[in-house]
Amino acid sequence: MPAAILDGNKIAAEIRGEVAAEVKALSAAGMRPGLAVVLVGNNPASEIYVRGKVKSSGEVGLYSEQHTPSERATTQELLELIAELNRRDEIDGILVQLPLPPHVDSKKVLLAVDPAKDVDGFHPMNVGFLSTQRPGLVPCTPAGVMEMLERSKVKVAGQEAVVVGRSDIVGKPMAMLLLNANATVTVCHSKTRDLPGVCRRADILVAAIGRAGMITKDFVRPGATVIDVGMNRVTDAGGFGRLFAGNSKREETFRNKGSVLVGDVHPEVAEVAGAITPVPGGVGPLTIAMLMSNTVKAAKMRRWSHVAELART
Ligand code: NDP
Repeated sequence: MPAAILDGNKIAAEIRGEVAAEVKALSAAGMRPGLAVVLVGNNPASEIYVRGKVKSSGEVGLYSEQHTPSERATTQELLELIAELNRRDEIDGILVQLPLPPHVDSKKVLLAVDPAKDVDGFHPMNVGFLSTQRPGLVPCTPAGVMEMLERSKVKVAGQEAVVVGRSDIVGKPMAMLLLNANATVTVCHSKTRDLPGVCRRADILVAAIGRAGMITKDFVRPGATVIDVGMNRVTDAGGFGRLFAGNSKREETFRNKGSVLVGDVHPEVAEVAGAITPVPGGVGPLTIAMLMSNTVKAAKMRRWSHVAELART
């Protein structure tokens, strides 16, 4: 039986609907949540991501603004911009689109974001909150994966989960969230011995590697849930043929665009998995939906704690 498809577009629409209702209620109470997006320079991929984030903010009713310092902006100039956004009460979320230009000290800039406004969940304070199970802001992509598992009624507690990839942005927080949800978690990376064998132990397999179609059938236990975080653009005919030979819809896209978007999971995995996320239309849409959700969460946590403080004085 072919794998059930976990539809990220549908789940993201559900989340956006819930966020929009919350934004409406908060706005009516005079607390419209606000998101500031900082895009440095003219990286075309970053420009596309930022456009999507700003568009989605408008759709759910968030206030949003975009800051576009030039490619030549210094670390100091960016620190000043962040300090100003930290100070402004109507800004609840600050997102610094990565990558920053090579001459900028990215770590220093990210560290400068007020942890209460860190809607990407990258600040070490939020990382600490996650690992000690305190309320905080969680990175959007792994948070989206958890929403997908929960809303698709995939059992997590007591299950074997294997995460391939250990980046600070995806792999590590993903592993932590699964652990917090009581899965038994294994984290794999480029030095893991017998990767297919370790992956075959998984009831839930998360691929966050950045290598088109690397996870083939022999990595997957029949019936497992496979979450494909990877987003890779394949432009060469050989690579395309290895993944999608005979798939007329993809062949047409490849002919028209000269490239296709591919996950880390080979399409053949759908023959053995119990459930699988497509690329595109799987984890990607959830990432933006969770950014919207994180902005509302940040607004509530920060502004309500202000209200509570005022009430005490
Ligand atoms: P990184 O490059 O930061 O991390 C990749 C990880 O994969 C590393 O831990 C690396 O191991 C591991 N890895 C690389 N090659 C192998 C291999 N041959 N065998 C086992 N492990 C390997 O990537 P990110 O975590 O930022 O992103 C991963 C993927 O997810 C990318 O395709 C990215 O585009 C996509 N992505 C998608 C998002 C979405 O919204 N859907 C959001 C963010 C990312 P090591 O640490 O040993 O080098």
